[in-house]
Amino acid sequence: MIDLRSNDYLGLKDHPEVRAAAIAAVGRYGVGAAANRSAATRTGLTEQLEKRLAVFKGAPAALTFQSGYVANIGALPALLSIDDLVLHDELCHNSTLDGIRLSGATARTFAHRDADDLERRLHEIFEQPSEAPKRYRSVVVATDGVFGSTGEIAPLPALCAVAERYEALVVVDDAHATGVLGPTGRGTIEHFGLTGRVHLQVGTLSKAFGSFGGFVVGRRQLCEDLAATSRPLLHSTTLPAAILAASLAAIEIVEREPHRREQLWVNTHRLRNGLQRLGFDTGTSETPIIPVHFDDLDTMRRFVDDAGAAGLLLHPIPGTWGERPKIRIIASARLDTRDLDAAIATLDRIGRDLAVVL
Ligand SMILES: *Cc1c(COP(=O)(O)O)cnc(C)c1O
Repeated sequence: MIDLRSNDYLGLKDHPEVRAAAIAAVGRYGVGAAANRSAATRTGLTEQLEKRLAVFKGAPAALTFQSGYVANIGALPALLSIDDLVLHDELCHNSTLDGIRLSGATARTFAHRDADDLERRLHEIFEQPSEAPKRYRSVVVATDGVFGSTGEIAPLPALCAVAERYEALVVVDDAHATGVLGPTGRGTIEHFGLTGRVHLQVGTLSKAFGSFGGFVVGRRQLCEDLAATSRPLLHSTTLPAAILAASLAAIEIVEREPHRREQLWVNTHRLRNGLQRLGFDTGTSETPIIPVHFDDLDTMRRFVDDAGAAGLLLHPIPGTWGERPKIRIIASARLDTRDLDAAIATLDRIGRDLAVVL
């Protein structure tokens, strides 16, 4: 089977050093962490990983969570309350939306990737930018760095500029960009050269790092406050040693083996160009996430079934709010040229069978 669904961008899930690190940690520390973050046996791995993540992200400090989803629903309610206002991109990941909801903050959307619309919305709420910090304890602008369903990159420089006029904090969920975007894979902030202008970044260890778990990076005091108050860190068991050790090994490999990221982008261009040449509608993706749009749900479902029968695993997204249904392909560095060309040939054949392409 050729798997075009996996978030394992760099092929680290199966890397021998990542496996070995996990196995060695089980041998030394056992399987479960058996307690929450503050009560878990001191292995030093959590602190090591958080230091490593902070350095990797070019931020003062990092804090691990049990997953990327938990990082959002744990961090946002610990930081925000009914005294705060959040403006978020309408296509933000559901974990961000759930985190905002749990916080009780006033939430408003702005049009997808539209900094002008963000500015208009802020202008509707505040006559003068200087009113923002008086009417709310804090104003927050939240966006994904890379949007998981479209493969688009957020217009972060423009969003930061608007946020700064209103003294708003910027929160970026960079789950799909970490290890992928930027000259050294640090993510969207490195891609745009915005170091120091984003207040909180959320990330996951389960995509490009091929491991499991989530994290946030930001100011040291912010991370310390979150560690003391975020409910999933207080009331739920922390990450096991095997996962911490595997994540440490994975970060090291991301830094040491840049050819994996280069391969990811080579694969991305080969797959996207191949699909576009055949006439598939790949939308406006700028990253290794390649959506393929369909006119109707039935055709999309048949396409996914036929591809599965032909050995090609695809991720269907039915489409909500009148959006067209689509499949989401990720051009992982794990795939070699033979896989990619075989995948393109199969997609071509099924696409013509179902009259998706001519
Ligand atoms: C995948 C993803 C998450 C969730 O990460 P997990 O570690 O799988 O829970 C959160 N936010 C975004 C934007 C994601 O793409």
